[in-house]
Amino acid sequence: LADRLQGTIAKIRGKGKVTESDVKEMMREVRLALLEADVNFKVVKDFIKKVSERAVGQEVMKSLTPGQQVIKVVKEELTELMGGEQSQIVVSTRPPTVIMMVGLQGAGKTTTTGKLANLLRKKYNRNPLLVAADIYRPAAIKQLETLGKQLNMPVFSLGDEVSPVEIAEQAIEQAKKEHHDYVLIDTAGRLHIDEHLMDELKQVKEVANPDEIFLVVDAMTGQDAVNVAQSFQDQLGLTGVILTKLDGDTRGGAALSIRAVTGTPIKFAGMGEKLDALEPFHPERMASRILGMGDVLTLIEKAQASVDQEKAKELEEKMRTMSFTFDDFLEQLGQVRKMGPLDELISMLPGANKIKGLKNIQVDEKQISHVEAIIRSMTKEEKRHPEIINASRKKRIAKGSGTSVQEVNRLLKQFEDMKKMMKQMTNMTKGKRKGFKFP
Ligand code: GDP
Ligand code: MG
Repeated sequence: LADRLQGTIAKIRGKGKVTESDVKEMMREVRLALLEADVNFKVVKDFIKKVSERAVGQEVMKSLTPGQQVIKVVKEELTELMGGEQSQIVVSTRPPTVIMMVGLQGAGKTTTTGKLANLLRKKYNRNPLLVAADIYRPAAIKQLETLGKQLNMPVFSLGDEVSPVEIAEQAIEQAKKEHHDYVLIDTAGRLHIDEHLMDELKQVKEVANPDEIFLVVDAMTGQDAVNVAQSFQDQLGLTGVILTKLDGDTRGGAALSIRAVTGTPIKFAGMGEKLDALEPFHPERMASRILGMGDVLTLIEKAQASVDQEKAKELEEKMRTMSFTFDDFLEQLGQVRKMGPLDELISMLPGANKIKGLKNIQVDEKQISHVEAIIRSMTKEEKRHPEIINASRKKRIAKGSGTSVQEVNRLLKQFEDMKKMMKQMTNMTKGKRKGFKFP
């Protein structure tokens, strides 16, 4: 999603004037980007309608930087779509506050139960009791007990011979006796939603009378996550969603649609496997992340500050026509070095982690001096047509630059990679659909 939007953003950002047809074009891109990210169709439609109305309105057209303004509107509406400000966890007036964790198998229920307990204690100074009510998955009880040990927190279990309903009932009794203010019930999941699972969860809900029912959803599952959320909402009723695995390479579509389709707020985000990797869900930050704006903004600012505008234009033309030579490479190295440490810059590029060729491009500053020396040892002809550099030419270049043939080889390879990468990036800034993907 980010890649798509960034192409469009790059296109519109610099515009001094935005016409209605500009907005239309941008909305078409945003629409495709969202659909590609697996956002629900109806959600996308409503979203585009809302943004378009605002974007062609006075507020945008009359501003000094309409391009920026459109992006701001997109971001605000994305935030709104994910539920505005983050919601707080409920506290029961008659303790213990009971929280039931539900969801499909592998979504992260057990892990998140541990994380939530940790957060409740650390941040809110609470004293939770963990309840092992998944009697079906082998070792599920053990898993929660291990987490309890790591956290130094009690885990209530009656083994796997007693029904989850019974377990929940007795756990709450015990929590009252031992003055636990929270009870977190880790329930069983299935690979798919089925009747038996739902019936059992309904029974547990009946006896536990939970204050919160949190659906734990794997953020990587996209549109599926929305369907799962909808079923749980319909059959069980949910008070919140916890999105896990947001530390992975998810497309963000789930986060966008879940709230809009089910009306259930996303309350927490799982950001890793460790027990402290649970954060309150911030729609605003998620919107920024989806747009990839923070980093892109910084990068653009840096670039504007130090790259000679005329040169940049010339360079872009060369990249586009692929007449980019080693001379340009040298020139560009100089420009780029003015901007700051290379690895920092590269990490800021949108989608940088997805570019295969990038791994072969050295970002070691010392090596850059070598690179410069090698290029300076090339003849005019070689710089323009590196394909003529044969074995004996390589030897000569290596000697002239005080480097080795291996280093010359590496640079030639890097140059090829870089050309490929530039082609990708140029496509992206041109907003082409296939931008940023290697064939
Ligand atoms: P359950 O079947 O729903 O109880 O799922 P588990 O809690 O057993 O988690 C399944 C797997 O997902 C485990 O390997 C967890 O470590 C992993 N996991 C859970 N939450 C996260 C998260 O936020 N990020 C990452 N990277 N992994 C997670
Ligand atoms: Mg589990």
